[in-house]
Amino acid sequence: MINYRGFTGGVFETNAYAIEAPAGWILFDAPDGACAWLARQGIELKLLLLTHGHIDHIQDVARIKRQFNCPIGIHPEGVPMVSDREFFRDYGYQLEVEPVEPDLLIEASPSRDFLGMNFEVLDVPGHCPGSLCFFSRENELLVGGDVLFAGGVGRWDLPGGDGDLLFSGIREKLYPLGDNVTVLPGHGPPTTIGAERRTNPFVR
Ligand SMILES: [Zn+2]
Ligand SMILES: [Zn+2]
Repeated sequence: MINYRGFTGGVFETNAYAIEAPAGWILFDAPDGACAWLARQGIELKLLLLTHGHIDHIQDVARIKRQFNCPIGIHPEGVPMVSDREFFRDYGYQLEVEPVEPDLLIEASPSRDFLGMNFEVLDVPGHCPGSLCFFSRENELLVGGDVLFAGGVGRWDLPGGDGDLLFSGIREKLYPLGDNVTVLPGHGPPTTIGAERRTNPFVR
């Protein structure tokens, strides 16, 4: 049974998940407060993976890098979002983020090892360019970012968004993973692929 813990932080109530892989803890996404939360949990972080570069998922990246000196992984299309301080001016947010250069570039892959844990990495754009979902088949667990929510999907009206691309990606890449798969989304409570396949009002 896999050991994982969730944290919700920041004004957008963004979720982060810490998963204990064989060679150490991986954190998925870094909302405001995530670094302090890791410290409170006594988690010695070894790797930070970002589902995508939206500002609410990356606010603690620089702090975490300083605190734990761990590598940071993101899709190549997300790099400017974490490395360019002014990137989110275009989004109309007056928020600034301390820029960081990522260490690992992560693209879609049928099998990729992170700290001794195997993941299928899926690229499901439409909410955000370079939007990654990390799937552990062994544990029937999907860290999904802002792609599929309980009864919802990620918004597609932000720069680089595309509704059709998002819906087809969910239908073609996520729904086939299996009804028993637990989805840990970037916002809101966990769900399952089966529940969303049957009842999600956006993608049927
Ligand atoms: Zn997002
Ligand atoms: Zn988000």
